[in-house]
Amino acid sequence: MDRRSFLKVSGGLILLSACKNEYSSKDGLQQSEFPIHIDSNSAVGHLVRSAMELPISESTSIETLIVGGGIAGLAAASSLRTNDFVVCELDPTLGGTSGAININGSLYSQGAHYDLAYPNNYGKDGLQLLEKLNIIQFNGVKSLWEFQDKQYLIPSDKEEACYDNGVMRSSILANNELKQNFLALLKTYDNQFPLPSTSIHSDLHHLDHLTFYDYLNKYLPIDSYFIEAIDYQMLDDLGGTSNQISALAGIHYYKCRPYYNGEDLELFSPQQGNYYFIQKMAKKIATNSLLTNHLVFGMKQQNKSWYIDVYDTKQKIRKEYVTNNIVYAGQKHALKHIHPESHASFNDVSYAPWVVVNIELNENDLDGSKWQNDFLSPNRTFLGFVDSKIQDNKNSRVLTAYYCFPDIHHYIVKNFEASAKDLVHETVSNISLYYKKDISKFVKQAHIKLLGHAMPIPQPGYLTKKRTLFKDNLAFAGVDTGRLPLMFDALDSGIQAGKKSS
Ligand SMILES: Cc1cc2nc3c(=O)[nH]c(=O)nc-3n(C[C@H](O)[C@H](O)[C@H](O)COP(=O)(O)OP(=O)(O)OC[C@H]3O[C@@H](n4cnc5c(N)ncnc54)[C@H](O)[C@@H]3O)c2cc1C
Repeated sequence: MDRRSFLKVSGGLILLSACKNEYSSKDGLQQSEFPIHIDSNSAVGHLVRSAMELPISESTSIETLIVGGGIAGLAAASSLRTNDFVVCELDPTLGGTSGAININGSLYSQGAHYDLAYPNNYGKDGLQLLEKLNIIQFNGVKSLWEFQDKQYLIPSDKEEACYDNGVMRSSILANNELKQNFLALLKTYDNQFPLPSTSIHSDLHHLDHLTFYDYLNKYLPIDSYFIEAIDYQMLDDLGGTSNQISALAGIHYYKCRPYYNGEDLELFSPQQGNYYFIQKMAKKIATNSLLTNHLVFGMKQQNKSWYIDVYDTKQKIRKEYVTNNIVYAGQKHALKHIHPESHASFNDVSYAPWVVVNIELNENDLDGSKWQNDFLSPNRTFLGFVDSKIQDNKNSRVLTAYYCFPDIHHYIVKNFEASAKDLVHETVSNISLYYKKDISKFVKQAHIKLLGHAMPIPQPGYLTKKRTLFKDNLAFAGVDTGRLPLMFDALDSGIQAGKKSS
C-alpha cells in the first residue's frame, strides 16, 4: 500500500493537509487515490495568543477601518464617502462565506453560490449599489431587477434534481395536495416579505415569536414526508430546521420572491458563485485598501479615537491602526475576545457550521446531474452538490458538495482536520449513489473548506431583537446582526454601516 500524508502551515493561518486517499471496497467503491486539501481557520485562537506577545511594529492613522472582507465588509467599503480606509480580512483571500477556490486557474464557489432576480419592492440602497456595479438592470415589463451577465443564468430545465432516499424526483417539495394547501396558506403574504429583512413590516413581527414548525402544524395537516422536505430547504438556505427557525424566517423563504406563484425568475449562478459580487466590489476599491492576511484581535476607544490591534499573519508582525470609525463586519461571536463591551448585543446569535467539499473530476461524460442536486437521506447533514458543468463546461469539472451541521457541533471543524478522508469518502459515496455509479475512480483531488461559524440561524426572536448597531463610531454589519443569511441582507447591512461611518 502506498500511503503518504503531510501537514503544512501556510501563512500561519491556514492549515493545509494533503494525503493520498484509499477507498476500501467494502461499500462497493473501487480503491483509488487522490490528494485532499483542507482549508480551515480554526488556528485563529493560537494566532491571537502569539500576536499579543509581539511589540507593535507600526502605527497608522486612518479615517475608517473595516473588519472583515465578506459581502458586508466590501459593501461598507463601497458606501464610504472617504478613500481613507482599510479593510482587514484574516483569510488570504476576500469573500468569507461567499469565497471561491482556484482549481487549475479557474475559480469555483466554496460557499454562497446563487441569487435570483430582485423584485422592485426590495431595498433601494442594495439595488442602487448592484446597479452602479453593472450587475443588475431594471426590466420594466416584469418589474424585476435582472442580471446583466446573462451567460451566468442557469437554464430552467437544468436547475434542480432531487435524490430522495434512492428515488429521483424533479423537486424537493412533492407536488401534492398538501403542497397546494401550503402555498394557498402563504398566499396572504404575497409582496409582504421583501429584503432586506429589516424592511419587513412590524405587523408581521409576531411571526418571529413561534417556530416555523409550530406555525405549519397549527394550520396544515402536516406529515413527516412534508416536514422532511421543508427542513431540507430551511437547512439549505437558513441553517436550521423548521423547529429551530422562526415562522417569520420560514415564510420569508417562500414569499421573498414570486417563484412559488409560478413566475419564472432568473437564477444567477456563476461558476465562482457569489464571489462574483466580491470581485465586482473589490474592483472598485484601491488595492492598497484591501488587506488580506490581516487579523483584527483587539479594539479599544481612547479620547474619541479607536486603537485597533491587527496581526499581519503573512509578515508575522503586529500593527496598530488609530481610526475615527470602525465597521465591524466579522462574525460577532469573536467580539467576546476583541471588544467584550459589544458582545451583549449579539450573545443570542447561534451559528450553523458548514463544510464545503469541492471535488475535481476527470470525467465529463457522467450524466444525469443538474445545477443543484438535492439529496435526502437519513444523514440530514449532507445537502447534495452543485455541478460546475452546468455553469461553464469549458473548465475542469468540479462537484461542490455541502454539509450543514447543528449549531452544537462547532467542534466538528477541528475534528475534520483529522478525519478528512472519512468526510471525502462519505461525500464520494453519496454522490455515487446519486449517479448510481462509482465515481471514486474519476476523482482527481478534493478540497475541504471548514466554516465553523458560517451562518446565523434565524431562531425565534433573532430577527426582531433590538440591537445596538451603531455607538461611539463603531458600526456593525454582516448577516449576524439580526439579518437573514442571504446576499442581499449582507449587502444592505454593509451599506447602512458604511453610511453611518462616513
Ligand atoms: C455554505 C454557505 C452557502 C451559502 N449560500 C448562499 C447563497 O447561495 N446565496 C446567498 O444569498 N447566501 C448564501 N449564504 C449566506 C452567506 O453567508 C451570505 O450571503 C453572505 O456571504 C454573508 O456575508 P457576511 O459579510 O455577512 O459574512 P461572512 O461571509 O462571514 O464574512 C465575514 C468575514 O470577516 C472575516 N473576519 C471575521 N473575523 C475577523 C477578524 N477578527 N479580523 C479580520 N477578518 C475577520 C471572515 O474571515 C470573513 O471573511 C451561504 C452561506 C454558507 C455558509
